[in-house]
Amino acid sequence: MHEAEFFIKLKNNIVRCELCPCFCVLKPGQTGSCKVRKNENGILTTLVYNKVSALTVDPIEKKPLYHFLPGSQILSIGTVGCNLHCVFCQNHHISQCSADDFGNFREITAKQLVATAAGIKGNTGIAYTYNEPFIFYEFMLETAKLVKEAGMKNVVVSNGYVNPEPLKKVLPFIDALNIDLKAFSTDFYKKQTTGKLAPVLETLRIIAGCNAHLEITNLVIPGLNEDEKEFEKMVEWIASELGKEVPLHISRYFPVYKLKEPPTPSKTLELFYKIASKHLLFVYTGNVSETEHSSTFCPGCGSLVIKRSRFYVRKRNLEENGCCSNCNMQQEIIFN
Ligand code: SF4
Ligand code: SF4
Repeated sequence: MHEAEFFIKLKNNIVRCELCPCFCVLKPGQTGSCKVRKNENGILTTLVYNKVSALTVDPIEKKPLYHFLPGSQILSIGTVGCNLHCVFCQNHHISQCSADDFGNFREITAKQLVATAAGIKGNTGIAYTYNEPFIFYEFMLETAKLVKEAGMKNVVVSNGYVNPEPLKKVLPFIDALNIDLKAFSTDFYKKQTTGKLAPVLETLRIIAGCNAHLEITNLVIPGLNEDEKEFEKMVEWIASELGKEVPLHISRYFPVYKLKEPPTPSKTLELFYKIASKHLLFVYTGNVSETEHSSTFCPGCGSLVIKRSRFYVRKRNLEENGCCSNCNMQQEIIFN
């Protein structure tokens, strides 16, 4: 049993978890909406501390992160559980599973995990991903501190559904994040994810105001969030509130979990790419076989600076200092 952070005690051994905007109120023996935080006799505990469901070395582009250490590899870990319940979840087998029901955990301490990461040749650090990292907060925070001490990098891939206080506590240890902005609609969040839009926007504002690198992913689902006007409002908000240099990954949906709609048509992705490119400097399309919109071009002169073809990544027209060799503009890319 490992005591969780961010909860308050109410009457009769009832506790309220304050890690995420669900604010679950739990009687003794009850588990939160994320299925991994449980009231044990008036103490909130985490059921996934030191428990890993997946441990794989991935290209950083798979997170996706395109402007953070391009071409590098990162040890990626997840546990089980999620505080949202998206009908289109690609990882529902772990995100919607309780800690009790998952029978295949690998038990590993933060120290062992960091030693594993450090021992992998060419590995840049640890990515907290696959299910929702903020619900395994204590394990992530402890590991992230050790990763920094070891001189490596921490990456978080998240739905952004976390309260400001825990977010601000972990951010000094995080180097880069990819946050899902699933739609620019309160109604979509409520019906398709069981969450709310406003806390995700607040998370994005907080991250944009700190030193960590931020990229955003938007999954476009036919019939659910493919309204052009709503999408344009979203990219305008990103440009004005977070900065037009924040990379946006427009991702293609495929039928999965509870959704049977056909995949996002290529023409919708192309249209959204054009809309987003009016407002943002770096727009990419993901989950597609075409690689036309996966490379990075210098915003100053249009020269190709990073050529990508799936997970093939090569620098082009770049000086050692990260400037474009054609127009000398400093690129918005972190190389080390
Ligand atoms: S982290 Fe889990 S238990 Fe805590 S409020 Fe969110 S869903 Fe509820
Ligand atoms: S937030 Fe991500 S992991 Fe959680 S249910 Fe939604 S898609 Fe799945």
